Amino acid sequence: MKLLEHEARNIFREYGIPVPAGFLIRSPGELASRMGELGERFVLKAQVEVGGRGKAGGIVVADPTTGERIAGDLFRKEIKGVPVREVLAVEYLDIQKEYYASIAIDRSTKQALILFTEEGGVDIEALAKERPEAVRRASLPLLMRDIPPFMIRDLLGAAPKEIGKVLNQLYRVFSEKDALLAEINPLVTTSEGIFAADAKLIVDDNALSRQGIKLNRDLTDREREAEMHGFSYVELKGDIGVIGNGAGLTMATLDLIEYYDGKAANFLDVGGGADQERVMHAVRLVAADPSVNVIVVNLLGGITRCDEVARGIISAGISQPVIVRLAGTNEAEGRQILDGSGYRMMESMEQAVKAAVEAVQ
Ligand code: GDP
Ligand code: MN
Repeated sequence: MKLLEHEARNIFREYGIPVPAGFLIRSPGELASRMGELGERFVLKAQVEVGGRGKAGGIVVADPTTGERIAGDLFRKEIKGVPVREVLAVEYLDIQKEYYASIAIDRSTKQALILFTEEGGVDIEALAKERPEAVRRASLPLLMRDIPPFMIRDLLGAAPKEIGKVLNQLYRVFSEKDALLAEINPLVTTSEGIFAADAKLIVDDNALSRQGIKLNRDLTDREREAEMHGFSYVELKGDIGVIGNGAGLTMATLDLIEYYDGKAANFLDVGGGADQERVMHAVRLVAADPSVNVIVVNLLGGITRCDEVARGIISAGISQPVIVRLAGTNEAEGRQILDGSGYRMMESMEQAVKAAVEAVQ
């Protein structure tokens, strides 16, 4: 689960990462009564679980004369379709330079993947695509308690040495909170030091109860049903439904959709060993989202058998087209079952995603 910024920033602060002073409000009036705690200029930040709030109008600079009105506007807004119920008010940072730092699970190596770039504040995916050399990487076995100094030096390059401490604090958050991703974008320098101007933390859903974290938003009917089946299911704003097995493969499918300029409507991770019945429920659930015009099923057979998956897809009997990529156990049988049933089975996930994007264009 992706935590809201204010939740993530509280955790970052516990681990010593400097964050700008501020507080959470639930109404413009609350801001008015606490305005004195903020300076001459402050930032109002919509607390919604979608990224790219800045571009979507969810991050606004205000001052004591405009604050209440601007907060009112923000509370009436939807950011990428998500209503704003909470706003974080923080002191305005006079930014000298923006950096990017993140730590994620690298599923292929089972290591922590640390990314750092001196060109922060930008869209990291775009930067990694256009100028991969600008993004420095290091992999670290999860057993390590700290990032070794040589690794920090390589990551930082010409960036201030003090950022090394923040990287280690972020790494502690990452490992102790069972995170899939801990990210600071931007990590900034001001005349007063280094600050995490944003905070992002995705905690492994399997660790939520151990971490004492409760879901931070109301569930839709479909989300509730997904929970009942034990699916990880998240709704987005596009038109392509996504079904995968394993968080890594599911995320990779989403990345590819973005790469081909498509937009996912949702994604569902069926988990391990999905049988016909589970696949059928998964397909029906994803298809029940009225914004879904096509579905990509991207599954790797291991314990999951491709023939079971194929039967599950067909028995779901949904109206939208389903484009399938199956690989692994009983792949040929799966293909045979799908052949002639009106479903397209592609050779690779690139082909499947591309076909889905084309189908909705
Ligand atoms: P996101 O768009 O959801 O990632 O939200 P962020 O919290 O990262 O804010 C978006 C952008 O607003 C940042 O990348 C900064 O460039 C800018 N921003 C946020 N807070 C401040 C601030 O205190 N001062 C300045 N100058 N810019 C800020
Ligand atoms: Mn950000």
